[in-house]
Amino acid sequence: MFIDQVRINVKGGDGGAGCMSFRREACVPKGGPDGGDGGHGGNVVLRADRGKSSLIDFRFKHHFRAERGTHGQGARRHGADGEDLVLNVPLGTIAYELDPETMERAYLIADLTHAGEMAVVGEGGHGGRGNIHFVTSVRRAPAFAEKGEPATEHWIELEMKLMADVGLVGMPSVGKSSLIAHMSAARPKIADYPFTTLQPNLGMVRVGEYDYVVADIPGLIEGAAEGKGLGHEFLRHIERTALIMHVVDLSGSYEQRDPVHDYLVIKRELAEYASDLSQRPTVIVGNKCDLPGTEEASGRMRELAEREGLPYYEVSAATGVGMHDLMMAVGKMVRELRGAVQDEDEATAPDQYAKVWTARQHRRERVTKVSKEGPGVWRLSGKSIERMVIQTDWDNDESIIYLQHRLDRLGIERELLKEGARNGDVVRILGYELEFTGVDDDTSDVLSEDAAEELDWEEFDAPADDDDVDEPDGE
Ligand code: GDP
Ligand code: MG
Repeated sequence: MFIDQVRINVKGGDGGAGCMSFRREACVPKGGPDGGDGGHGGNVVLRADRGKSSLIDFRFKHHFRAERGTHGQGARRHGADGEDLVLNVPLGTIAYELDPETMERAYLIADLTHAGEMAVVGEGGHGGRGNIHFVTSVRRAPAFAEKGEPATEHWIELEMKLMADVGLVGMPSVGKSSLIAHMSAARPKIADYPFTTLQPNLGMVRVGEYDYVVADIPGLIEGAAEGKGLGHEFLRHIERTALIMHVVDLSGSYEQRDPVHDYLVIKRELAEYASDLSQRPTVIVGNKCDLPGTEEASGRMRELAEREGLPYYEVSAATGVGMHDLMMAVGKMVRELRGAVQDEDEATAPDQYAKVWTARQHRRERVTKVSKEGPGVWRLSGKSIERMVIQTDWDNDESIIYLQHRLDRLGIERELLKEGARNGDVVRILGYELEFTGVDDDTSDVLSEDAAEELDWEEFDAPADDDDVDEPDGE
């Protein structure tokens, strides 16, 4: 199996801060709150693109960040949402979330099999809410706003099983390996084939706006013919080969061979051993044109190509002459050959992966965990509760009181009491500490053991918070 595998670090955009502001009008002495919300940060999104055939783009760049949301402003002006960062990946790309500590695969995020299919792999932070949201009957002039939520960064692994776009054929020593080496920007990982010493020769090409995979076929056809049990697996992988690159040695240097003769022999072999490959569109490549006395042979090859109605390129893998033109022309042909089905696929691309994953994330986010860190010290953890804390302006008393109300509404006070928390205990969330003032000293045992027993929650789902007008809804 040919495997292309990369690890990348993704981070959505941070959310913009909500604004704390009061309306100012010439004739109105004290206007109401009018601070707008911060914009949401953009997401990092994978998108399956038929124009890509390897993960080569990610070998040279590993960090991807989406745009941040801008801050809210007065006069109820909301900040702008950050743009999503869309990463185009080949069809057949599988994405895994990596455990940040072990860097092992934690779970599957998406398996992108249709062109146009998308999956969010890095979520943007929520924008903070402006002070217009915090007006209540008793709090007419909220002098605080929420901060933007910072996006979290994480590592993901992308993997794809490579399928060759271009298959190289030709006699031994015509320069196939040299051509692949010259064209390749990277070499994919190749799993071991049992019972054979034959190494498939594979390269990922990136030239201009093109991106394709080239593979050396004949070595494998020979291997298969010799019964090395490799051909079958390999042929499955070159099924998608859109184009054949037929290479000849213009110098005829190896055993004084003639390139025209070689071409005809290989053509016949192909028809015999791999008849569907012999039907594929073909480019003829005359290699080693740097050697003296190759003009005559090149002329005859050109005439032959004309007769066959095939394009002909004269190159040297050794000096690079003619290579750029060849690589660009092949890129263009591959794209045309692949392109036909792309539009059709796009129309029918399912988006269930994006949905499934975001929904799962959000369900996980709502869970809050209470744990005891020491005598009189408690820790609350969970994405949703941590977000509330991060978005709180800790320099602002009103803001902190508001946070405490929110925590109460989530049933956290009850949960802490059940676990045995007492007035004056310390409650930690991330790096912040709050004092537990859930209940007066003399009534701290107001909840009987039995009643507490009934609240038997290890983890519990926080009920929806009334104030959360823009709670994520998994869209
Ligand atoms: P393969 O058997 O088709 O994979 O051929 P290789 O790539 O192994 O090349 C066979 C020999 O030809 C090697 O010694 C290469 O260095 C040499 N060779 C390949 N391409 C060129 C070229 O463009 N010019 C010259 N002068 N030698 C070349
Ligand atoms: Mg070779």
